[in-house]
Amino acid sequence: MKALTYHGSKDVRVDTVPDPVLQDADDILLRVTATAICGSDLHLFRGKIPELHKGDILGHEFMGIVEDVGSDVTNVRKGDRVVIPFVIACGDCFHCRLAEFSACETTNTGTGAALNSKGMRPPAALFGFSHLYGGVPGGQAEYVRVPKGNVGPIVVPDALPDEQVLFLSDILPTGYQAVLNARVTRGSTVAIFGAGPVGLMAAACAKMLGAERIFMIDRYQYRLDFAVATYGVIPINFEDTDDPAEEIISQTNGRGVDATIDAVGFEAKGSKADTIATQLKLEGSSGAALRQCIAATRRAGTVSVPGVYAGFIHAFMFGDAFDKGLRFEMGQTNVQKYMPELLEHIGEGRLQPDVIISHRMALADAAKGYEIFDGKEDACRKVVLTP
Ligand code: NAD
Ligand code: ZN
Ligand code: ZN
Repeated sequence: MKALTYHGSKDVRVDTVPDPVLQDADDILLRVTATAICGSDLHLFRGKIPELHKGDILGHEFMGIVEDVGSDVTNVRKGDRVVIPFVIACGDCFHCRLAEFSACETTNTGTGAALNSKGMRPPAALFGFSHLYGGVPGGQAEYVRVPKGNVGPIVVPDALPDEQVLFLSDILPTGYQAVLNARVTRGSTVAIFGAGPVGLMAAACAKMLGAERIFMIDRYQYRLDFAVATYGVIPINFEDTDDPAEEIISQTNGRGVDATIDAVGFEAKGSKADTIATQLKLEGSSGAALRQCIAATRRAGTVSVPGVYAGFIHAFMFGDAFDKGLRFEMGQTNVQKYMPELLEHIGEGRLQPDVIISHRMALADAAKGYEIFDGKEDACRKVVLTP
């Protein structure tokens, strides 16, 4: 079959690879009908995630038709149309029983090294996300083996086309969890840093939950313009302002917003206001967006971080966070927990995640898709690939 494989930093190719086969009794074999490129794939593409090997198949946002099932699979049948959560969870361990699927203790059986300072490997295995996360082949491919077929894969109604439900695999639940973690309710004020796919899904969910004002911060005007037109956000282009946090504070009675959402993560580019990072000429994990979040949140408010971080970040303003009594929420998304209710919201028209798609391409052109999405070329918001 054809699949998108990693060959080195900024070098991905569509290769011919062996077809996947069922291995465990609770496996599903899926024929992929649609798959997307995620901001998290860009960390892999840029060579920022260790233990990614030449030839590894990428992709963790995908859906398709069940081709075959192992003897223990009861959740789906051959021929079902399903969306697959990017987190692989057993459903039965200490954490899974608490619906903390991204902390599943049993699925990451890979040979990956430690990621955190206590020598622990990341928890749950993820599709297409290096050997650190279990070394499970991803879904930017014609076929994929789906382990734990009884925990998460969700059957979708025929009436909803692929594009409307595909983002149940990751970015929609990620935006939703970010907004729930931020305790957004009717009348809330919230500032979302990053107008990429995750930030846009957070804006959609915040609007659905009745947020009164949504500030959105990015450097790409085309992304901000889309968010204004679609979700009615108040845009702040951090290239045009000395300090986005100051602007947010001045528009919220000098207090700041109830909650901020960092939908950027460790690759944040410094804004003008990011004096500490600028003075120190920091690169990489400068934490620019996170520092701005801390600054823009009101006392006793919440900072919610769906953006991915690894290792340490420079000049984390812990004193400011303590002084303000902030609450922090973060982490990989418990996708399985939110899929059913989000599918209902889509079915009833309260969410239309497909509107963010800007590029539709054949899987064969996936390498070009990575380039366009990485370079923010051609007003790219989200790329969907069809095998
Ligand atoms: P993306 O790269 O398309 O979007 C990131 C946006 O942030 C870009 O538009 C960029 O211009 C903007 N940005 C950069 N620096 C900024 C700053 N200082 N202030 C404000 N905006 C800034 O990626 P995406 O698909 O939207 O993903 C965003 C993040 O979410 C990534 O880190 C990704 O890995 C993470 N993610 C996490 C989960 C999870 O389970 N927690 C799931 C999916 C994605
Ligand atoms: Zn993703
Ligand atoms: Zn588990």
